[in-house]
Amino acid sequence: MTVFKTDHTFENWSDTIKFRPGLYGEPSTVVEIQQIVQQAANAGGKIRTQGAGHSFSQLLPTAGTLLSLDQLKLPIVENGAQVTVPGGIRLKDLIKELRKRGRGLRNLGSITEQSIAGATATGTHGTGLRLGAIHTQIAAMKLVDGQGQLRTIDGSGPKDLAAARLSLGALGIITEVTLETVPDYRLEYNAYLCRLDDVLGRIDQLNQENERMLFWWFLPPVGPRDCVILITKNPVGTPPGWLAAATDLPGMSALGGILRGRRLSVDTLLGVLGGALGHLAGAGPRRILHFVDDYDRVLTIPLLPVYHRECEYAIPAGRAWEALEGMRRVFDEGDVSLRLPVEVRFVAPDDALLSPSRDRASGVAYIGASTLENATEVFERFEPLMRGLEGRPHWGKNFTLRHADVEAMYPGSYSEFRAARASFDPKGVFSNSFLDELFG
Ligand SMILES: Cc1cc2nc3c(=O)[nH]c(=O)nc-3n(C[C@H](O)[C@H](O)[C@H](O)COP(=O)(O)OP(=O)(O)OC[C@H]3O[C@@H](n4cnc5c(N)ncnc54)[C@H](O)[C@@H]3O)c2cc1C
Repeated sequence: MTVFKTDHTFENWSDTIKFRPGLYGEPSTVVEIQQIVQQAANAGGKIRTQGAGHSFSQLLPTAGTLLSLDQLKLPIVENGAQVTVPGGIRLKDLIKELRKRGRGLRNLGSITEQSIAGATATGTHGTGLRLGAIHTQIAAMKLVDGQGQLRTIDGSGPKDLAAARLSLGALGIITEVTLETVPDYRLEYNAYLCRLDDVLGRIDQLNQENERMLFWWFLPPVGPRDCVILITKNPVGTPPGWLAAATDLPGMSALGGILRGRRLSVDTLLGVLGGALGHLAGAGPRRILHFVDDYDRVLTIPLLPVYHRECEYAIPAGRAWEALEGMRRVFDEGDVSLRLPVEVRFVAPDDALLSPSRDRASGVAYIGASTLENATEVFERFEPLMRGLEGRPHWGKNFTLRHADVEAMYPGSYSEFRAARASFDPKGVFSNSFLDELFG
């Protein structure tokens, strides 16, 4: 039997969302979850299910019941490349379990604290124009729907997997996920200081030459506004292409330490970055860090205690330079500034109904603005700019949309997702005010 607490306070990772649910429980069997949902459905109750609580958006607040699946210890089952895991497993534990079996995940975002169900529910992504977000690795899943029925969802049901892969927790409680895995692998990491204009003029080429690339654009007061750190993550031995011209920049061990997760105070960290970026001054690309390691260590950055807020939009990949030019104009005017870098990543198209990459045949550029303080000022300028470029927000980060905005962003698939929601959860057990605002 699930023991419920009435005095539990939820706080998200960035400490920007805090609420006290009516009840908080950690069920340990699927049957318990089914009973909890059936009772709520009969009594007009509401349930939200959390993963690791790393989202910035208001997906979880509820006055009803908050569940965590941390105690749902289901077995890990391997069937060739497909591996079935509990929905609540943290990515860091999943990676270890897969490695024991000689397997790995095709791509990852920057951290591994999230649960697999939570990461996929918001479309969590890494970088790589030919690589999909994490939800594209899902082959099937089991979820408890709004009537307490355990459903198996695979590619055989019409649109069900397309709806459930990225569901914002609005269709049901995901108890198990079957992932299409790849053999465990290693990658080569290179970081370069580059001029922003050199990178903006070569985005297509850099995406062609590198399996994965991203860049961080630092602005005053941290760095000169024309400077980026460009990072490539490739199969070992990939020819460097345009970056072959880069010469090594000595004396960058402090910066290299930060990129590999050395823990520093925010001000020291920003000071080291600013100093390093000052070295570029008009030169071609300079390499500041190189190593080869297991894929998860190359793809992620250790979680630094920099409790920021973030707004991230996906725009068609070919419009990335327009977005950055637009942002440069705003920053040049000097009204808003950022102490954290603007992050630019690239993701392949996919067909999940609510995927920001849906119907984007050439993939998307994800542009993220992170702030330590002036979030309102920054996001007020950033969001309209991104929306003007056909942008769609990352569902797990900060954004301000009404349902008409979402409907316009997802022509066709918005109504399909609403229909899926009505079918999976006819009584709205998994709703909260935020989801109702977005989906009516
Ligand atoms: C420091 C930091 C770094 C990040 N880096 C990246 C990045 O590189 N790339 C990126 O794309 N995003 C990134 N994010 C965003 C993060 O990946 C997403 O917000 C993700 O959803 C968090 O997963 P979680 O397990 O914490 O889920 P939560 O935040 O707890 O929940 C998110 C959603 O998943 C649903 N959910 C969770 N578990 C279940 C379940 N079992 N069944 C049904 N629904 C469920 C919840 O109801 C909710 O709607 C980052 C966030 C932080 C704080």
